[in-house]
Amino acid sequence: MKLDKCRSCGLCKANCPIYNATLRETIGARGRAILIKKEVLTDIYYTCSLCKSCDTECPAGIELSKEIRKMRERMVEEGKETEANKAMIDNIRKYGNPFGKIEKGKFPDKLYCC
Ligand code: SF4
Ligand code: SF4
Repeated sequence: MKLDKCRSCGLCKANCPIYNATLRETIGARGRAILIKKEVLTDIYYTCSLCKSCDTECPAGIELSKEIRKMRERMVEEGKETEANKAMIDNIRKYGNPFGKIEKGKFPDKLYCC
């Protein structure tokens, strides 16, 4: 696994927008790296914006955003994705957008985000 090279230095969280907005280690870039190393399946991966900022900071050359996406794929494979994610995918298939049926001039009932 590529994350074997991770030394938990934390440089990846420097420009992580989620960490900077929340100051919560668990949902910042380093926190996610630790969860991936421990193979924890959690909806925390869905709080990542996949902005790739962490990829540019890592001295070990780890593409953390790619590893986060892989964990999301595993969540789907194992039926552990979030309900919001399921609803968004259903809406995209049915209506071509993540919000569902949109009537002209009206706001969607629900605004999903991961
Ligand atoms: S910058 Fe790289 S080595 Fe450091 S904690 Fe983040 S993923 Fe691990
Ligand atoms: S890709 Fe995710 S973990 Fe990495 S910096 Fe962006 S929000 Fe943070």
